[in-house]
Amino acid sequence: MPQYALVIDLNTCVGCHACATNCKEWNTQASFGPLSDFDPYGRNPKGVWYNRIMTYEMGEFPDTQVFHLPKSCLHCQDAPCVPVCPTGASYKREQDGIVLVNYDDCIGCKLCSWACPYGCREFDEADKVMKKCTLCIDRIYDESLPPEHRKPACVLTCPAKARFFGDIEDPNSEAYRMIKERNGFVLFPDMGTNPANHYLPRTETKVHVDEHLLEAENPLFLEVVRRHYKGG
Ligand code: SF4
Ligand code: SF4
Ligand code: SF4
Repeated sequence: MPQYALVIDLNTCVGCHACATNCKEWNTQASFGPLSDFDPYGRNPKGVWYNRIMTYEMGEFPDTQVFHLPKSCLHCQDAPCVPVCPTGASYKREQDGIVLVNYDDCIGCKLCSWACPYGCREFDEADKVMKKCTLCIDRIYDESLPPEHRKPACVLTCPAKARFFGDIEDPNSEAYRMIKERNGFVLFPDMGTNPANHYLPRTETKVHVDEHLLEAENPLFLEVVRRHYKGG
């Protein structure tokens, strides 16, 4: 059975939020309707986002690293958000594995958000229904678009080319190939949800630092550069 999914390269994601912003823009103007915002310019802005970028800092100063984890619905192959839905509004499509919500049948009980171990459901307080990433189903099957544009908005906009889309069961797809070649992994495999979206791991990168950079005036910077790049 086909299983469409995203593959996200954590090695090249720079946390710029372009994917989240373009997701919001597309899904506010297109057929899946507005993603409500409340108090967007106030002290406590709230809103519905299908795609959120989490940023983590690791290590102790000055040896710290920052990494970014974009996260949207993972379109789990054994999605726990589906069987808990009392109305059948939450469902997984046979033909492509995309998990969707039928807004007409959703009664806003939020059971699916409790069942999702990844926090990927978004309750729209304005529409009183549950929403989440649709993998841009309204783009990927739109034959009025050129074939190269029949991809999720987040994939098309990523300036770092960190996002890939395709059928992870199809050996000819880019998504399948990236997972195999780069040791793609899923979030919390022990949850038994079998997420379709995969991540490509971060790898250590050797960087050459020119001598003139060692003349920087910041002594902390000098210490870090010497330790990492000069073996000091
Ligand atoms: S647009 Fe690309 S680089 Fe920017 S946060 Fe999203 S995945 Fe990362
Ligand atoms: S990530 Fe959460 S909302 Fe998406 S399919 Fe899996 S359990 Fe359901
Ligand atoms: S909030 Fe809607 S989609 Fe979620 S379980 Fe309740 S009825 Fe189903």
